[in-house]
Amino acid sequence: MDIKELGEFGLIEEIKKGIALAEGVEGIGDDCAVIPQTTGRETLVSTDMLMEGTHFLIEDISPYLLGWKSAAVNISDIAAMGGRCVGSFLSFALPKGTQKEWLMEFFRGYKEVSALFGCPLLGGDTTTSPDRLCINVTVLGEAACGESVKRSGAKVGDLICVTGPLGDSACGLAHILTGCVVDDEAKVLIDRHYKPMPRVTEGLGLAAAGVSAMMDISDGIGSDLRHILKASGVGAEVDLESIPLSDELKRKCALFGWEEMDFAVSGGEDYELLFTASEEVEKKLEVPHHVIGRIVEGEGIRWIGGEKDYMGFRHF
Ligand code: ADP
Ligand code: MG
Repeated sequence: MDIKELGEFGLIEEIKKGIALAEGVEGIGDDCAVIPQTTGRETLVSTDMLMEGTHFLIEDISPYLLGWKSAAVNISDIAAMGGRCVGSFLSFALPKGTQKEWLMEFFRGYKEVSALFGCPLLGGDTTTSPDRLCINVTVLGEAACGESVKRSGAKVGDLICVTGPLGDSACGLAHILTGCVVDDEAKVLIDRHYKPMPRVTEGLGLAAAGVSAMMDISDGIGSDLRHILKASGVGAEVDLESIPLSDELKRKCALFGWEEMDFAVSGGEDYELLFTASEEVEKKLEVPHHVIGRIVEGEGIRWIGGEKDYMGFRHF
């Protein structure tokens, strides 16, 4: 059977079978694994692979930005749990002919975003690759025991919220892929694609305030929200009108005839946080956010104000 038939998430369900976990350990299925420690803290671990040709085109991205993005998307998984960063491990398979100058630029970007979030590089592995560059990053974080926010805590009646505008990254990518003219506004969008800012501070604030479920937006809410719904055994109503969009995205969509919602809901790689909170908790939140919908009984997403069923980005 071709794994394509299983799909990415079907495959992960298969991998998950038959694994025995110690008491309190959370394994496959959330943004991070959670490992309680006797110190009253819990360790958060996440790992992500970036493959040349699949996740980035080596001719299109500068080494500095690739380094930034490799660290940032992993740090974002710590943010998604409401955790604090501890450090990271970086492994790569380098194609023959890789230049020292290229690598130094990569590390400049990697270390810059890591320093911003107190996430020093602690180790890794280096090997060669027959042709393409492959990067794997593992990031470690921590939280007080029981304080990290899982995908499984959403309750019927909770509000669904996001920490910032959606779709900019996908709209930036559309500029790169279609090769259309890049003005200052397009640059803002492209920057959002290449230089995502992990929402660690926001995640910590939201966890402390008691939000019920949280994850980061990597595949678009059309896909990501379904993970929260499935893990929590609930459904959702999302009001398309209330999804926050940047002015840059609105103007570019009007100019090129692109669908705003395709970027905002199915685009992905925004790395904003998607979370649910009771009305009482949401009212008191100090972290800037936008309410986009509500958790309801049942399953799946009902999109208010649109006919399409948005599914988000699919890896295979
Ligand atoms: P994210 O987008 O937050 O990085 P993913 O969608 O990549 O999360 O993964 C979902 C879950 O499946 C995570 O808990 C991840 O650790 C797990 N997972 C993905 N691939 C594998 C694998 N090859 N083996 C074990 N667990 C995996
Ligand atoms: Mg994630």
